[in-house]
Amino acid sequence: MASPMAAQAWKLLQALALLPRFLAARSRAVQLTSRRWLSLQEYQSKKLMSDNRVRVQRFFVADTANEALKAAKRLNAKEIVLKAQILAGGRGKGVFNSGLKGGVHLTKDPNVVGQLAKQMIGYNLATKQTPKEGVKVNKVMVAEALDISRETYLAILMDQSCNGPVLVGSPQEGIDIEEMAASNPELIFKEQIDIFEGIKDSQAQRMAENLGFVGPLKSQAADQITKLYNLFLKIDATQVEVNPFGETPEGQVVCFDAKINFDDNAEFQQKDIFAMDDKSENEPIENEAANYDLKYIGLDGNIACFVNDAGLAMATCDIIFLNGGKPANFLDLGGGVKEAQVYQAFKLLTADPKVEAILVNIFGGIVNCAIIANGITKACQELELKVPLVVWLEGTNVQEAQKILNNSRLPITSAVDLEDAAKKAVAIVAKK
Ligand code: ADP
Ligand code: MG
Repeated sequence: MASPMAAQAWKLLQALALLPRFLAARSRAVQLTSRRWLSLQEYQSKKLMSDNRVRVQRFFVADTANEALKAAKRLNAKEIVLKAQILAGGRGKGVFNSGLKGGVHLTKDPNVVGQLAKQMIGYNLATKQTPKEGVKVNKVMVAEALDISRETYLAILMDQSCNGPVLVGSPQEGIDIEEMAASNPELIFKEQIDIFEGIKDSQAQRMAENLGFVGPLKSQAADQITKLYNLFLKIDATQVEVNPFGETPEGQVVCFDAKINFDDNAEFQQKDIFAMDDKSENEPIENEAANYDLKYIGLDGNIACFVNDAGLAMATCDIIFLNGGKPANFLDLGGGVKEAQVYQAFKLLTADPKVEAILVNIFGGIVNCAIIANGITKACQELELKVPLVVWLEGTNVQEAQKILNNSRLPITSAVDLEDAAKKAVAIVAKK
């Protein structure tokens, strides 16, 4: 006869077959609430680039208008470009809730830099890549503006379909690469790179030529592309995007913008880079969860999901969807859980005012169910929780856990399997 654990594993496998539908919803949610790969601000990316002999303009960073003014004077440049620092792109065409239009401004007058910075710092900048309300600007970059005689697009990415790094470029000015790929795919050039051999000079030259660089500019662009690729590899990036990768009338190839994403699995060997993550654009609740080694993902429904492990989280959310409900969030406890973490987890889950029911789905393999049960009981009592709980626990020490929960006199509904749990949670919120 199948053991309860085997039965749960089987149910889980069945639930996982429903995964693809959930993934679409999850990726939407993850985009809104969490960053999968570390992403640095432009000024941080440009510092890495200039340290590796990639050409960027001279710049300073400021977090007050007064500092921005001082920086503009210190730059002593013919023209200055002031750029709001947020992780999203499309800043040039963005709008601030101070009324100021444009997250990128050019001026010759340092005083204007101060005035503009005042309307940027502390305000939200909305672009087509941010949520509607925009993202708060904490810092601005004050850089020497260079005339741009021609703009191109260049990116280096880890591409699954190429099983490795690929250069992507387009000679087209001011493009949105996704739109371009759909409308004019012939204007996008790719160069697949063998990660073991590294970038060949012929590949860098070909990309430079495809981007439309001619004469001495071609070898300069190829040299910049090679340096960018070597940096990409050295820092364990998943993407380096330079848009615009441009040229000046004086004959210089310059990276005018920079967006670098990093492989979170490389954190252990890229400590300096990960230390630069200011987390200022994370949801505060995510940071709070991370402090306790918990993973929190916010969604937009009303059933909170308390689970261990990402696969189970996805299966739980999917089965809620299938039964006509909507998850409000999920919180992944991971393995090796301590009672205090369970308490924190409940605090986080119920901080969301949308939550009308909590579905607990814990598969006690590494996790001891009794620890979870004790944690839940304590959290519910201390937080004076009124939200009904639907609980399905299975695995290590489950009988002890059931006893703890039964004796707790909490508003708990037990479930016999995942589907039963989802149905009961959906029924609870439907009644409200
Ligand atoms: P975003 O991609 O977020 O809109 P960019 O850094 O690409 O921000 O800036 C938008 C536009 O501003 C660029 O496409 C370019 O035309 C102009 N620009 C950016 N940096 C400079 C600079 N240093 N000198 C002159 N123009 C610049
Ligand atoms: Mg750009």
